Amino acid sequence: MNQPKRVLIVGAVAGGASCAARLRRLDEQAEIVLFDRGPFASFANCGLPYYVGGVIEDERQLLLASPDLFRQRFNIEVRTRNEVAAIDRSRCEIEARDLATGRLYRERYDALVLSPGATPLRPQVPGVDLPGIFALRTIPDSRDIREWIQTRRPARAVVVGAGLIGLEMTENLVRRGLQVTVVERLPQVMPALDPEMAEPVSRRLETNRVALHLDDAVSAFEADPNGALRVTTHSGRSFAADLVILAAGTRPESDLAKAAGLEVGSSGGIRVDESMRTSDPRIWAVGDAVEVRDLVTGQWRLVPLAGPAQRQARVAVDSICGREARFRGAQGTMVCGFFGLTVALTGATEKDLRGAGISDYQAVYLHPGSHAGYYPGAKPLHMKLIFRRGDGRILGAQAVGEEGVEKRIDVLAVAIQKQATVFDLEECELCYAPQYGAAKDPVNLAGMVAANVLRGDVQLAPWEELPQTVALLVDVRDPDEFAAGHIDGAVNVPLGELRRRIGELPREREIWVYCELGQRSYYAVRFLRQNGFQVRNLSGGYQTYWGWYP
Ligand SMILES: Cc1cc2nc3c(=O)[nH]c(=O)nc-3n(C[C@H](O)[C@H](O)[C@H](O)COP(=O)(O)OP(=O)(O)OC[C@H]3O[C@@H](n4cnc5c(N)ncnc54)[C@H](O)[C@@H]3O)c2cc1C
Repeated sequence: MNQPKRVLIVGAVAGGASCAARLRRLDEQAEIVLFDRGPFASFANCGLPYYVGGVIEDERQLLLASPDLFRQRFNIEVRTRNEVAAIDRSRCEIEARDLATGRLYRERYDALVLSPGATPLRPQVPGVDLPGIFALRTIPDSRDIREWIQTRRPARAVVVGAGLIGLEMTENLVRRGLQVTVVERLPQVMPALDPEMAEPVSRRLETNRVALHLDDAVSAFEADPNGALRVTTHSGRSFAADLVILAAGTRPESDLAKAAGLEVGSSGGIRVDESMRTSDPRIWAVGDAVEVRDLVTGQWRLVPLAGPAQRQARVAVDSICGREARFRGAQGTMVCGFFGLTVALTGATEKDLRGAGISDYQAVYLHPGSHAGYYPGAKPLHMKLIFRRGDGRILGAQAVGEEGVEKRIDVLAVAIQKQATVFDLEECELCYAPQYGAAKDPVNLAGMVAANVLRGDVQLAPWEELPQTVALLVDVRDPDEFAAGHIDGAVNVPLGELRRRIGELPREREIWVYCELGQRSYYAVRFLRQNGFQVRNLSGGYQTYWGWYP
């Protein structure tokens, strides 16, 4: 009889716990040991901001599976408070340290899986280790923050970083009654978005009395004699704070792999092949610690999200068990919400495409309702769809709104993975009843708007060239809408008057048309083109203008 396979797993949370559970499903004989340096296995890191904010009240709700459950239900051994300190690849052994006793010991493996996650980045500035400054990664971190809030009763917080975790923490600190200042090094919030799509997020933060300081980075932390903190930034600003949250991104935990001589990519993530195997054939790696191929750009990148970690775990275990398995790559599909706003994206942004040297793409904007306008309660959805000019293949999508955001992005995520085109989106048959969507769903609409461009029915004017354009700007909204605000230099010719006033428009000069959302201007473009004018549409209309020129 074959010896049972001995599989050791470093990291017992998202990727590691999933590996262990699937391995047991595939191999009843395998000996499986999970190691985690922390006190818990399999907890919900994604819930931590909500535990700090009190939305999740009981810490036990964050615990998805205990070591006891792993043992009883799956015959899997979990060693919490045990850190894997080294990998001896020549002997197929790891060296682990029992953090309770300090004892060092070795364990043999037939297969080793690394799922050690990522570490929060701590800005290398004076005072970063002062009391009252926290990062959030583990249950103990969230406990420490809760305890600080309960015992110190802080009134003012500074959150460093305006990405997913920073903004979730911001909302939860506001929920706790704190006055929050967010400091972000980049000139936009939610760096995963293109800047114009991040604008509604900034506005929502400001309307919730969050002070936002973009394009500025923390340069020092100081504590005054009574313990209050002072946060100074490179621009010379200074903020008083009773609590600071560091949410400036993460770095893959690849030190163990590096020390063992495993290949690590330029992003700092462990390099793996499509079966999640590292440069050592007996070692696999998954989750935040690895770099993976971007499904759209083909470049190596870090995608520190729970979904890819889970899928990678499945692939790694299949591969360990000799099954054919291939990780297709990641597309960075993510969603987050704060102050009633949902933000989601999938695939490449324009920033990503430019960074990858890809220029054969086009973006369209649209602002449909979350469901049929005649049914009460529809909320605007701000969407951006990016597609390849050559063949219409969908490359990326971003959406912001109060309702129906994630549903559309999820559909588009599948479309991207299946290499669908904007023409496929036109044809998508999606569910519709007035309270849920529209007979022409925003996903269909996005496809139609994009397909109109590819079929040559409409030419788009580039938003970024608006300040320099010599084209005549024509606002086809109604006079009251024009009076309430318009693009500088635009003339108002409402759509309903266009036929009658066609003689006022120049034939020798290009015309750029816009309306509020892009729909009336599309009619105007079609009318003017068929009458021989050189005309382009400003995609997404005045609503998009606000994103570009806040
Ligand atoms: C506050 C927060 C909110 C998040 N929200 C979302 C969200 O909404 N959506 C989403 O998709 N993703 C979210 N994420 C990211 C998601 O949690 C991670 O992508 C996912 O947990 C990665 O899984 P992993 O197994 O790679 O790492 P982890 O789940 O972090 O597990 C790694 C474990 O390995 C242990 N470890 C590391 N080195 C060693 C060692 N040498 N020896 C022993 N143990 C070791 C660590 O202690 C840790 O417990 C969030 C993360 C955080 C922190």
